[in-house]
Amino acid sequence: MKLATRTFERDDWYITSPYGERINPVTKKKQFHSGCDYGTNKQNWKQYALEDGVVTRVGYNAKGYGHYMDIQYPRIKKQLFYAHLKTIYVKKGDKVTHDTCIGLTGATGQVTGIHLHLGLKPIGGSYEDPEKYDYQPIEKTKPVERDETRDQLQVIKNKLRIRTEPNLKGAILGFAELGYYNDLEKFDADGYTWHKVADNNWIANVDGYVKLLPSLKVGDKVTLKEPLDYYIIEFIDGDKANITMTTDINNLIKYEEKWKQ
Ligand SMILES: [Zn+2]
Repeated sequence: MKLATRTFERDDWYITSPYGERINPVTKKKQFHSGCDYGTNKQNWKQYALEDGVVTRVGYNAKGYGHYMDIQYPRIKKQLFYAHLKTIYVKKGDKVTHDTCIGLTGATGQVTGIHLHLGLKPIGGSYEDPEKYDYQPIEKTKPVERDETRDQLQVIKNKLRIRTEPNLKGAILGFAELGYYNDLEKFDADGYTWHKVADNNWIANVDGYVKLLPSLKVGDKVTLKEPLDYYIIEFIDGDKANITMTTDINNLIKYEEKWKQ
């Protein structure tokens, strides 16, 4: 994924000046351009942090980069330099996630129009061409098939965030897709029960977003929250169970009589 696509959360940007040797458009002198310039159709687009990171520098230079900042991203071991912003919404020392709007693209400093100057370097290294870097976000967990023999979660509403840690400070990886997830581990923090659904993938039991589905054993009769929502587990043989869901109380009574025999 292009860094600009991740930064703007859209892909209709265009390169106005690439990385490398160039004639400076303002001074007309030959110089090395240590980043890549991205045009935004003359609009002040929102810019987002790539992922979990920390702001290491925020400054202003009217004769140079205007409003600028550095953000370090430990997972990918890179530092990004963002310049010419209209406004910066973070300060030095702030922790960011991909959910953090770090500022608006602008035309502050020495420029000929609204654009983002983006510099990329390994932390402690020298600038490289941002266009040659293929950014890979952490893979999001995909829902699995419903398996009644183990604890599962059903995500039933859109926009439930997946975080890298079981607390509100965890970086946001994106939104959980609707469907079933294996509940691999539980952790209570920040007033929520967090459920690990994959390595570094946690979702919180926010009311209305997640339905908790109990694991069922042969012979279990489980009543879920609503009185008319029953699971009936019939014994067949060995570990096999025949699971029926019914909303009819008469059905349930029938099954209870069958078990008594
Ligand atoms: Zn530039």
